[in-house]
Amino acid sequence: MNFENNLAFAQAQDQIDTLKNFRQQFLFPKHQGKDFIYLCGNSLGLQPKAAKEVLDQQLSNWANLAVEGWFEGEEPWMFYHKELKKLMAPLVGALPSEVCPMNTLTVNLHLLMVSFYQPKGKRIKIIMEGGAFPSDQYAIESQVRFHGLQPDDAIIEVFPRAGEDTLRTEDIISKINEHGEELALVLFGGINYYTGQWYDMKRITQAGQAVGAIVGWDLAHAAGNVPVKLHDWDVDFACWCSYKYQNSGPGGIAGIFVHEKHFNNQTLNRFAGWWGYQENKRFKMEKGFIPEAGADGWQVSCTQVMPMALYHASLKIFQKAGFIDPLRSKSIALTGYLYFIVNEVNKELNSAQFKIITPEVAEDRGSQLSIIAAEKGKEIFDGLVANHVLGDWREPNVIRLSPIPLYNSFEDIYLTGQTLLKVCKAIL
Ligand SMILES: *Cc1c(COP(=O)(O)O)cnc(C)c1O
Repeated sequence: MNFENNLAFAQAQDQIDTLKNFRQQFLFPKHQGKDFIYLCGNSLGLQPKAAKEVLDQQLSNWANLAVEGWFEGEEPWMFYHKELKKLMAPLVGALPSEVCPMNTLTVNLHLLMVSFYQPKGKRIKIIMEGGAFPSDQYAIESQVRFHGLQPDDAIIEVFPRAGEDTLRTEDIISKINEHGEELALVLFGGINYYTGQWYDMKRITQAGQAVGAIVGWDLAHAAGNVPVKLHDWDVDFACWCSYKYQNSGPGGIAGIFVHEKHFNNQTLNRFAGWWGYQENKRFKMEKGFIPEAGADGWQVSCTQVMPMALYHASLKIFQKAGFIDPLRSKSIALTGYLYFIVNEVNKELNSAQFKIITPEVAEDRGSQLSIIAAEKGKEIFDGLVANHVLGDWREPNVIRLSPIPLYNSFEDIYLTGQTLLKVCKAIL
């Protein structure tokens, strides 16, 4: 697309955008009485207007049915997660039986590592991206120690080459091959939270499995953002949170994926609980854990109805929008436009003030751009906020802006460019 840095162009793009009306289904935060241009959906997605309704509905169910709500009413809580499974599956390219809503992300990462990181003999190592989200680093470190191993012996991090900001697939694959028979697990974020790089999940999965390792993905920044095909890519396991790109609310319920090829594997360890027990015999309260088939067998505690109701309300919006493909098309255009606009600001400032470290090629990124300012990055970020543009700041020096196809417009992006220019002219 040939982008133009003017309001008429942006508005014309919004006119022909088939998703433009979805914006009205969300609530925008305000700053001094005026809506923010919200470019922070990679950190916390906006509240769907339907959220309040579904919570009210569940509060009524609780009030009117109390304990009978588990089996009575229009949506008995006992089976409520099944509705979510149907809607989660197409978002991540899975079968409904392969996904389940439960817990929160880091908790699920631990539960899945209990099953899928089983170091034995020489095969003890985990490969991950250098600079992974800290929670993942802590989870992986502590899992390694849990097995009586030392992080320095068991964890291999892959870093960008000197002078580069993102990883090359060939470097990841050669690291995998180099460690071959010592590798127990390849565990990456689908999209790195800091750089916004979307890794070549299919090739990395193949490379890891080719040397005999298990391959898992943390999709915190990928699920609901880019089209992933977990089943077809033969991914072993994955997990994600739903409060970023999937608008389920702060601390919202998370999701897991376990490939169906593992459903009958009796050698997998689990940290079990009653809700993972065979569903039709769960209330017999018998001794000896027998897992329910599929991803449901990793559940531990009973259904968290309120967070699930919020996630359900949001997934219905994705369903209406056609799940991921239409969103991805708009996301490519919108993020491409932001890329162009940031470079226009550079031109108007006559400098290389802003460097975008996120890959320019759409196949290597989602909807986030990570931008490093040559000077006064934090002041510029604060200036954006003061002028109604809300992105986020990540230490040490990156401004992350993330246009979301469900609720951002081309006009938002154009105006962000104008604001960035104004702030820079005032500060620099
Ligand atoms: C956001 C994020 C988390 C957050 O984990 P919670 O358990 O939901 O607090 C973890 N890992 C990654 C990669 C993230 O982007």
